[in-house]
Amino acid sequence: MKASGMVSHRAARVEGTAPRPINIGNQEPERPKAKFRCWCCGRKQEFTGETPVDAVMKARKLGWEHTIGFDIETCERCVKLGKKPDAKKAMEIGVNA
Ligand SMILES: [Zn+2]
Repeated sequence: MKASGMVSHRAARVEGTAPRPINIGNQEPERPKAKFRCWCCGRKQEFTGETPVDAVMKARKLGWEHTIGFDIETCERCVKLGKKPDAKKAMEIGVNA
């Protein structure tokens, strides 16, 4: 019998500190996602986390920067290159596209 089957028949117990969705079969449980798109190079990256905030924190740790006012994101590569957010360019490329 598979582990997932034992769980559903209460033959096995799932223990842990944080409540997590039980992974049945090979399906990945749905996790909160945060999608980022760099205003400068157009690179897209998706982060998953335990919570939406956790997903965003992962992006911040990697170096993605948010610019309040323009409401745009700069990827860590462009941050390192010293790219400054430009509202006009952000409008042209469509930040939320
Ligand atoms: Zn970039």
